[in-house]
Amino acid sequence: MSAPSTIERATDLPSLAVRNLNKAFGGVQAVRDVSFDLAEGELLALIGPNGAGKSTCFNMLNGQIPADSGSVRLAGEELLGYAPAEIWRRGVGRTFQITATFPSMTVAENVAMVLMSQQRELFSFFRSATHRHRDRAMELLDLVGMTGQADRPCGVLSYGDLKRVELAVALGNTPRVLLMDEPTAGMAPRERLELMGLAARLVGDLGISVLFTEHDMDIVFGHADRIIVLSRGALIAEGNAEQIRNDPLVLKTYLGEGQIYGQAED
Ligand code: ADP
Ligand code: MG
Repeated sequence: MSAPSTIERATDLPSLAVRNLNKAFGGVQAVRDVSFDLAEGELLALIGPNGAGKSTCFNMLNGQIPADSGSVRLAGEELLGYAPAEIWRRGVGRTFQITATFPSMTVAENVAMVLMSQQRELFSFFRSATHRHRDRAMELLDLVGMTGQADRPCGVLSYGDLKRVELAVALGNTPRVLLMDEPTAGMAPRERLELMGLAARLVGDLGISVLFTEHDMDIVFGHADRIIVLSRGALIAEGNAEQIRNDPLVLKTYLGEGQIYGQAED
């Protein structure tokens, strides 16, 4: 008897299936029984007030913190329990902070450097390795419209351009799922819109599924295919922009924070 075709079956599965995810820090239940699916090619926003548990969720999905219980399946394969590098290797990408690396290296060198470290070549012969990765770095920079700045030092880039480079790096292993926790944090409103517009186009073109968090509701409502809402560790709503805007529980959750409509001016 032949084995069932996992490739055929995988196409019917959600990219990411999260079930009953839990995490407590001491007495604080940061994430409580969270379950959701991320469909293939979907741009899904995870929103919620500060401290709702969004980053804790992300960090369990990418393996940076262990879950207390639950399941996270990537196209049917369980991810929980694997180290971050292994989860990344299996196709769950995330944005890396370029800002934290080497400001005097050029943009292209920085991207090549991250590609090398992702492929555990950091300690291989440096010059030849950079050279080998330069072509790939240029391809990635081209995706985000940054080839013109490839040979400038990273340290002179605007914050918005740095974020574009981070997005390029995140696409380095052509992930199946991309996790972006506040990708536009610290950016001016217009730069935020541009970055998310770019992310939306790229994931559409490349067929990547994206889970992202974002404070700016204009961006969430403008770009997300679907929105899930976390409050005190638990999911309280799910729907499209129209449904979330009018959800009584969501409105109540955000009312004290005054966050749900337009933060474009901050
Ligand atoms: P969000 O990203 O939605 O703002 P977080 O996931 O960062 O929320 O935090 C959720 C809750 O878990 C908060 O009460 C926060 O104080 C707590 N928390 C997060 N990380 C830790 C940690 N490493 N140790 C202790 N408590 C934490
Ligand atoms: Mg957070």
